[in-house]
Amino acid sequence: MCKFPTRCGILQRNNSPLQTPLSRLRGVGAQKSLLLKNELGLTTYEDLLYYHPRKYIDRSELKRIADCRDGDSVTLLGKVLSSQMSFHGKKKLTVEISDGTASMSLLFFHSIKFFSEKLSRGTELLLYGKISFFRQRPQIVHPELDIIDPLSGKTSSANTARIIPMYSSSGVLSKKGFDSRGFRNLLSQIILEMQPQIDDFISQSELHSLGLMGLEEALYHIHFPNSMEEAEEARKRLAFNEVFFFNAMLISMQGKYLPSRETPSSLKSAEQSQFIEKLPFELTEDQKEAIKKINKLIKSHIPMNVLLQGDVGSGKTIVALSTAIPVMEEGFQVALMAPTEVLARQHYNTVKTFFGDKIKVELLAGKIPQKMRKTIEESISQGDTDIVIGTHALFQEKTEFHNLDYIIIDEQHKFGVQQRARLRQKGQDTNLLVMSATPIPRSLCLTQYGDLESINIKTRPKNRLPITTLAFPIERLRGIYNSIRKYVSRGRQVYYVLPLIEDSAEIDLQSAQSRFEDMEKFFSSEKVAMIHGKMPSNEKEPVMEAFVGGEIDILVSTTVIEVGIDVPNANVIVIEHAERFGLAQLHQLRGRVGRGPHESFCILLHTNKISGKSKTRINTMTETDDGFKIAEMDLELRGAGQLAGTKQHGFHGFEFTDIISDTNIIEEARNYALEKSKEFQNPEDLYAMVKSLPGSKKMQSLLS
Ligand code: ADP
Ligand code: MG
Repeated sequence: MCKFPTRCGILQRNNSPLQTPLSRLRGVGAQKSLLLKNELGLTTYEDLLYYHPRKYIDRSELKRIADCRDGDSVTLLGKVLSSQMSFHGKKKLTVEISDGTASMSLLFFHSIKFFSEKLSRGTELLLYGKISFFRQRPQIVHPELDIIDPLSGKTSSANTARIIPMYSSSGVLSKKGFDSRGFRNLLSQIILEMQPQIDDFISQSELHSLGLMGLEEALYHIHFPNSMEEAEEARKRLAFNEVFFFNAMLISMQGKYLPSRETPSSLKSAEQSQFIEKLPFELTEDQKEAIKKINKLIKSHIPMNVLLQGDVGSGKTIVALSTAIPVMEEGFQVALMAPTEVLARQHYNTVKTFFGDKIKVELLAGKIPQKMRKTIEESISQGDTDIVIGTHALFQEKTEFHNLDYIIIDEQHKFGVQQRARLRQKGQDTNLLVMSATPIPRSLCLTQYGDLESINIKTRPKNRLPITTLAFPIERLRGIYNSIRKYVSRGRQVYYVLPLIEDSAEIDLQSAQSRFEDMEKFFSSEKVAMIHGKMPSNEKEPVMEAFVGGEIDILVSTTVIEVGIDVPNANVIVIEHAERFGLAQLHQLRGRVGRGPHESFCILLHTNKISGKSKTRINTMTETDDGFKIAEMDLELRGAGQLAGTKQHGFHGFEFTDIISDTNIIEEARNYALEKSKEFQNPEDLYAMVKSLPGSKKMQSLLS
């Protein structure tokens, strides 16, 4: 029996008061509600309640008029002494108020009639605005106001004398009255109407142990906090929800996650040990550890879900292949998926070299003649093939497996959650290993890949020479040229990378062109070639091939050189305008060298004056080559939203969660999702449950 959904009061989403259209509110007609929908995607009470304030302004402290100074932003309590309209020159309304300590003027230049009626003599009001002095007297132009009700002495106080949330709006909406103030008005209406109707899906005792604010309270305080602390508590609760929704949906999308899997529990490891012993190198400690962990997870009755992270060259492939051996030994099939054809082919060759004829491997990539494809597909569906290597063509509807048990995905960040799930459905409770050379900080990993357990390879194979990274101002260019010449004379090859920022592509291309010409002149006896982003690939490829073949000494490039490219003879990479590149990008570029037996260098050339963040980036590069440290630093410097490769997964959908500082919440929400998922026999029920919860709409669209 699953207790969870019954605890949640709002199962019938459509009947929920949260689904009330915004047009029901005062001041929102059919036309305005259409605007809210088109401009900001807001259609229901729920949408607006979950509309996160962009920031808060503290207006909770009342000032005395006598204490006001020029330029202060203040909240005041006053009484109208007089008001006067004037029509000479610019139309205006001047309202004199006093709070007993001093008097001052309020000026209005539009909606004069409205304000003059509202602010009649004797009216008490709270107001907020910026003081300016005119002829030694304080005044405020168009203050924000709350009129105090003369009978009750109360004010709705949505706009002044408290912490005021500010909302993003659009030009069109602001003109129609939906600026921050307009939003606050709508939200007070909704809160008044809804307050006793929002049920929490987390029980009181759980809230207590998690240290979280109740849902109704959170939705109230995110918009009407009494203190900044309260606003922060509210945000934390909504962040928890977000991460919980995301993870619970991920888990349900992964198919069956309950211990139902029937695995041969006696996976043979003799073959694996032999294979490892026969390798031409000794595995690193981290590789050995990773293999051990994966072995154990594959043997378990719960399908494995692992993210294997390690820098380029850390030897992930061999780990994956080693762990595939026992699976194939047991007669199950393995699939290895790569993002590009080049990489797929590379893996195919690796498998051929390491396994020879012992196992049957098929390659499904690029254009395969119809007839041949059919033969391959038959071999896969009948179970003759042990391991299939391919690009995303692998998970096209057509490809049927006989008994797929282990899926390995290379360069994970290129595949979306959906694609991952689809491939998994090809087998029964399949084990999944995804590999990434772009390490992801833990907090990000938990939000983006909450369903995956991460295993890290941090050490590099012993035989690798370290890459020396140096930074110089561009003035030192001639000196760098001389070093390049020195290495080329010893037979090495060099990458020279220039930035190409899309906004100023034309200018950059010009400067790249002139740098190239400059180099051609200097390196008259060396072979220099250039590739740039605007070149069609049929022009780029021959150049790349010539570089791979050693016919070109210096490759000038404005494009980020493809991740897969492997030229062990290249030992120097120079990056001009290094200050313009992101940290992760710099690290990726650096990974192009250090692949052969030669000592390698990464030279960062920067303009003379570099600012705080670019300086930190360049310093980080010269201080460490630990991809994990760099990923953390990158996240810190950029903020999560900017992180490479996250956009395509809709990472921006997280409204309330701060990926950098919310690590605890993220971890707790993820564990909570794992716990809760155990209450569901059927993953579809889990999905339906999450879907029914208020605020989960955004996360749904993020995952679909
Ligand atoms: P990546 O983690 O980037 O996928 P690969 O698995 O492609 O790295 O490994 C890069 C190269 O290093 C391959 O040629 C591989 O055979 C080799 N290699 C892997 N592990 C070791 C090791 N422990 N010692 C030496 N070379 C290794
Ligand atoms: Mg690899």
